[in-house]
Amino acid sequence: MTTINLESQAILEAKGLGKYFQVGGGFRPKRLRALHEVSFALGQRQVVALVGESGSGKSTIARLLVRLMEPSSGKIFFRGRDILQEEPRTASLAYRAQVQMIFQDPFGSLNPVHTIGNHLERPLLLHGKAKGDAELRDRVHELLETVELKPAAEIASRYPHQLSGGQRQRVAIARALAPGPSVILADEPISMLDVSIRVGVLNLMERLKEERGISYLYITHDIASARYFADRTMVMYAGHIVEGAPSEELMHRPAHPYTQLLLSAVPDPNGSMKSELRAKSGAPKLIDPPPGCPFADRCPSVMKVCRQEMPGTTQLEQNRWVRCHLFGQGAESGTVGLQGMSAAGPGSVLPVGVAS
Ligand code: SF4
Repeated sequence: MTTINLESQAILEAKGLGKYFQVGGGFRPKRLRALHEVSFALGQRQVVALVGESGSGKSTIARLLVRLMEPSSGKIFFRGRDILQEEPRTASLAYRAQVQMIFQDPFGSLNPVHTIGNHLERPLLLHGKAKGDAELRDRVHELLETVELKPAAEIASRYPHQLSGGQRQRVAIARALAPGPSVILADEPISMLDVSIRVGVLNLMERLKEERGISYLYITHDIASARYFADRTMVMYAGHIVEGAPSEELMHRPAHPYTQLLLSAVPDPNGSMKSELRAKSGAPKLIDPPPGCPFADRCPSVMKVCRQEMPGTTQLEQNRWVRCHLFGQGAESGTVGLQGMSAAGPGSVLPVGVAS
C-alpha cells in the first residue's frame, strides 16, 4: 500500500486517479485501462506539462479533472476540498468557475451560429460576473483586449469562421478566463495552429499566468513546447506517469527509456542529441494489459523482471523521479522518497502517491 503525502499548498491534486472502460459485450466484456492510479499536484502559478503519444491518457486526465467524466477510482482535491464528495450541482458550478479547459480544436469548440460576443456573454452571465447590457458589453470587450484581440467591438460582432485559427484560440482562452479561474487545463492548445502563431499563444498564456496567477496543466505530444512553456514535465505512457522532473532537467537528462525515445525524435539544431536509441514500434496493450511495465514490448533495455512487475517510483533527486526497473530501488516498496518529495516546497508537482 502506498503512502500518500499530499503537497499541502497545491491548488489541484489528483490522488490515485483511474479510469477504465468496458469494451465488447456478451458474457465476457473486457476492460480498457485508460488511466491507472495517477497522482500529482499542481501548485499556484505553475505550469505542468503532460507529455505522451496519443492514447497515453493525457486528455483523460484533463477530462476527469474538469469533470467531463467521472473517474473509476481515486480522488480530486481543489484547494484541499474533496471535489468528488461535494454536492454535485452547487459544487460543480463553483468548481467549474475555478477550473476551466481549453480544447485542441478552436473551431470545433465555438458555435458557428453565435457571435464571438455571444460566446463570452454566456459564461459571464452563468457565473454572475456581469449584470445588465452595458456591463456585459464592457466585460466582453475587456476579455477580448486581454487576449489581444482588437478592436474589441468589431471582433465581438464577428462569427467564428471570420477569424483565423490563432484568433479563435484566443477567443477560447478569453472564454476560459470569463469566470475568473485559477487553473486552466489546456489540451493541445497549439497543435492545430500554424507554427508561426504557436509561440504567440504560449506567450499570451504565460502573461496570464503572471498577471492573474493562473496555473496550467499543459497537455501536449510536443515535448519541445513543454520545455518552452512548462516549469515541470511529466511523461505519460499507457495510462501511467513514468517520469517527472523540472522541464530543463528532463530535456537534458532523461531517465526513462520512453522519455529518451521521445527526445530522440526532436530535431536538435546543435546535433548534440543522441539519436542511436532504437525502440520497436507498436502500441501498448490497454485491454486486459499483461503484468509488468507497459513499455516492455518496445523498450531497448527490457529485462526479465520488466515483464513480471510494474516498476515502483524511484526518486532520483529532489523533485525528480522515474518508474523503471533500471533504477532499481522502489520497485517493491512503492513508497520511495516521499518525505523528500513532500519537502520540495510550495508549488512543486510531485508524484505524491503512485500506487502500484
Ligand atoms: Fe524498459 Fe524495463 Fe524500464 Fe520498462 S521497466 S522502461 S521495460 S527497462
